Amino acid sequence: MSSSWNRFDVIVIGSGIGGLACAAALARCGKAALVLERQHVAGGLTQSFSRDGFQWDVGLHYLGEMGPEGEARNVLDWLTGGAMTFAPLGNAYDIVHFPDNFTVPFTRPRAALEGELKSRFPDCTTEIDALFAALDEAVHAGRALFTRRALSGLLGDIYGLWHSRAIHKWWGRTTAGVLADLVSDPRLRAVLLAQQGDHGGTDPAKTSFGIHAVVMNHYLNGAWYPVGGAKVFADTLVPIIEQAGGAIKLDTRVEALRIEDGEATGVVLDDGTVLQAQAIFSDIGAHNTVGLLPAELQESAWAKEIRSFQPSVSHVTLYLGLEGDIGSHGASASNYWFHESWGTSDGVWRISDQATSAPVLFVSFPSLKDPESPSRGHQRHTAEVVALTDWEPFARWSHSTLQDRPGEYAALKAVIEQSLLA
Ligand SMILES: Cc1cc2nc3c(=O)[nH]c(=O)nc-3n(C[C@H](O)[C@H](O)[C@H](O)COP(=O)(O)OP(=O)(O)OC[C@H]3O[C@@H](n4cnc5c(N)ncnc54)[C@H](O)[C@@H]3O)c2cc1C
Repeated sequence: MSSSWNRFDVIVIGSGIGGLACAAALARCGKAALVLERQHVAGGLTQSFSRDGFQWDVGLHYLGEMGPEGEARNVLDWLTGGAMTFAPLGNAYDIVHFPDNFTVPFTRPRAALEGELKSRFPDCTTEIDALFAALDEAVHAGRALFTRRALSGLLGDIYGLWHSRAIHKWWGRTTAGVLADLVSDPRLRAVLLAQQGDHGGTDPAKTSFGIHAVVMNHYLNGAWYPVGGAKVFADTLVPIIEQAGGAIKLDTRVEALRIEDGEATGVVLDDGTVLQAQAIFSDIGAHNTVGLLPAELQESAWAKEIRSFQPSVSHVTLYLGLEGDIGSHGASASNYWFHESWGTSDGVWRISDQATSAPVLFVSFPSLKDPESPSRGHQRHTAEVVALTDWEPFARWSHSTLQDRPGEYAALKAVIEQSLLA
């Protein structure tokens, strides 16, 4: 590889929205960033893909805080110069279904959801007030937690001590623990947990209430969808990075970090090329980043702790192309969560038992969310059906490649497809 790839101020590993936002923010500050991406498309989980004129997203269904006053929107507008537009999903961003046709729309604004829950659970109005107060406190404590981590040294320690009670109270306890304290009706607890798949949560006895609160809170004032689909993030951010002298290099896997005198000074690519820059940023998660360190550093206490983190839950998605007026059959821009039971800790589909079906389904219709969907004008629509799964049944094929999967893989895929379709 030519040495011209060594001309950049910084290297960013991974072109997911984290890596692209990082590189674009640096571009705004006059820095040229080289983004290295192992896949052949930029965007990570914000990629979209098309078949026969239909377009689907792989990892984005809705975003909160994208209204004119939204914090996330303000950051994005700074990054993009306001170049992206977002379409609101409507009043109900999530519609959750439970057995016996018990359905609760999660409606905006927050007061509407509070009212909806109180009308469905009239004996629990005081508890619902307490729960929303807890959400506020947890979100506030979360800001303190993130600020503490951003401050270094003594200042961070003092700031952390100052807020430690609130942080421990809401982030140091599990979602199940807090809900058990505040909410007596198990069905209301199940409704309040219905969106836990949003943060990859499958067992409320293991997730931090703080994370659950932040994600629930994120959508309380409504949800939006990027006009043009999720791929518009990369379409918009990549030129901004390039205009500042940066570049995106696809099909390029980083194999290792080069460390000199305790500092990351470069990366080693899969073809052995070494690239250097003043600073290296990683968008591939703490666990994967530690895996790029030299062996001796991987044995340090902090690295061992990060390596001990278990991977999050896996998922499968069925991508459907539909023809006709799907709105007249009940589809809308809302997301739908279908819970097969009132149980709150069995959201994972254990696929190795092929007699089972997914206990929770998430269903979304991107073409109804996007006013500029390419297929919509022709009454051609898209649907995405997502289920959380365990990884074990797929582990044996982890070294096979996209174009070269064995027959058993295709057979299992057909079983999954039929089950989700049914
Ligand atoms: C099914 C699903 C639905 C979701 N729906 C929503 C939603 O509706 N709303 C929402 O806000 N969030 C949603 N999310 C979450 C959201 O998509 C992610 O949190 C976000 O996109 C993660 O961005 P990232 O930059 O952190 O990581 P990623 O998007 O995972 O990007 C990491 C990139 O690094 C690359 N990479 C990894 N290792 C290397 C290496 N060694 N060398 C070079 N490149 C490497 C990867 O190929 C990837 O492109 C969803 C996620 C999933 C899975």
